Amino acid sequence: MSKNAKRYLILTYGCQMNVHESEKLAGILEEMGYTPTDDRNQADVVVFNTCAIRETAEQKIIGNIGEFKSLKRKNPNLVLAVCGCMSQQSGYPEMLKKRYSFIDIIFGTHNLAEFGNFLKRRLETKKKFIEISETEDICLRDAMPKKRTSGVNAWINITYGCNNFCSYCIVPYVRGKEVSRPKEAIIREVKEAVGNGYKQITLLGQNVNSYGNDDRAKFGTFAELLKAVDEVDGKFRIRFMTSHPKDLTDDVINVIASSKKICHYLHLPIQSGSNRILALMNRKYTRESYLDLICKARKAINDIEFSSDIIVGFPTETEEDFLETLDIVKQVGYQQLFTYVYSKRKGTVAEKLDGQIPSSIKKERIKRLIEVEHQIATQISEKYIGKVLEVLLEDVHPKKEGWLVGSTDFNKTISVKADKSLIGSFVMVKVTNAKLTTLSGEIVEE
Ligand code: SF4
Repeated sequence: MSKNAKRYLILTYGCQMNVHESEKLAGILEEMGYTPTDDRNQADVVVFNTCAIRETAEQKIIGNIGEFKSLKRKNPNLVLAVCGCMSQQSGYPEMLKKRYSFIDIIFGTHNLAEFGNFLKRRLETKKKFIEISETEDICLRDAMPKKRTSGVNAWINITYGCNNFCSYCIVPYVRGKEVSRPKEAIIREVKEAVGNGYKQITLLGQNVNSYGNDDRAKFGTFAELLKAVDEVDGKFRIRFMTSHPKDLTDDVINVIASSKKICHYLHLPIQSGSNRILALMNRKYTRESYLDLICKARKAINDIEFSSDIIVGFPTETEEDFLETLDIVKQVGYQQLFTYVYSKRKGTVAEKLDGQIPSSIKKERIKRLIEVEHQIATQISEKYIGKVLEVLLEDVHPKKEGWLVGSTDFNKTISVKADKSLIGSFVMVKVTNAKLTTLSGEIVEE
C-alpha cells in the first residue's frame, strides 16, 4: 500500500441491515481509492452508520461522535460523515449539527447511493452540509458496489423499508415504505455471491414474509422467491431475517421443509405473550395464532429450532401480562432470545401511551425472563451432546489458539479444533460439550 493511500473507517451500529449498508459504503470508498483501517488516527474519512431503535443505542452513538472532536481539531482534513436511521429522524440532523459543528456530512437512509458524490463535494468545496431525502430510486441502491466484510456470509436485501408500524418502532418512519427488489436481481446477486465462494446467504428485509406485497403480479411471494434461491446450484446455506409472524405462510413453511439448503431455524419475534399487549403493539397476531405457527413449523420441518425477540415493560404491562410472556417462552422453548427493555421512541404511537412502567420493574422482569431462557437454552444445547452435525466453519476462534468457530444449520455457534485452511468448509462434527449459547466438538469426517 502506498504511503499516501487514503484510508477509511466505518463505525456500524445496529442491525444486519446496517452491516450490509456499511458494506455498500465501503464499496464506494474502495472504488474511490480508499483502503480500510481500524485506527481512527490513520483515517481520512470516518463514517458513523447509526441506529435509532433504542435510546441507549442513540446515546452511545452521540457519545462516540463526541469523542472525535479532538481528533478533528488535530486533523482538520479528516472528513466525518453521519448516516443511518438516527440521521433520518426528524430534528436529529439539526440537533447533531448544533451539538457537533465539526461533522462534515449528515445524510439520510434514502441517500446511501449518493455518498460518493457527497464525499467529492465536501472535498472540493470544503463546505459542510446535510442531505436528507424522503424517497429514493432503489435501482441506484441496487447498482452500488459492495465490499463484503462478513467472512463466509453474504447479506442480500430482498426488501427495503417497512409498512407495519408496530407501535413502539421507529423503523417505518426512518426507512420509509416497503419496496421489494425484483426477483431476477436477487437471484443474480445470489448466484454471484455463491460463485465468489460465499457459503451462507442471508436474505434481508424488515419483514421478509411480506416480500412482493407491493406488486404481487410483478414480484411473486416470499415462498416463490425462497424456492428460486434454493434452486441456485452450489453447496451453500440459506437464511433469512426478519420474519413477521402475521405474514408467515404455510407455503414458506413447506418450502423450508422440502429444501436442502434453507436452514431449519426460524427467528420469529413474538415481542410479548399477552394478547392485550400484542394488540397495543399493533403486531396483528395473537399468542394462539403464534403458537399455531410454531406447531405447524415443528410438524413440517425436522429438528427446527427457534429464536425470538421480546420487549419487556411495554406501557401498561402488568405482572399477569408478563407471566403470559414467560409462559410462551416456556411453551416454545427458544434456543436463543433477544431480550429488550421497552425504550420510548419519539414520534411513535407507544410514546404517547399512558402507563409507562418504572425502570425498576422493567429490570426485575427482564432478569426473570433471562433466567428462564438460560435454563431452556442450556437444556436445548445439552440435547445435542453426542450428536453428529454438519457445521460451516466460519472464522478463527477469538480466544482459543488452533480452534475455529462455526455454525450449525439451526444457527448454534460451535467451536472445533481445526486448521485455518478449513474456514469456509462444511464438516461433520460430533458434539462433545454444550454450554448456554455454544457447543464444542470434534470433526469426525471431512
Ligand atoms: S415489523 Fe414492526 S418491529 Fe419490525 S421494523 Fe417493521 S415496524 Fe419495526
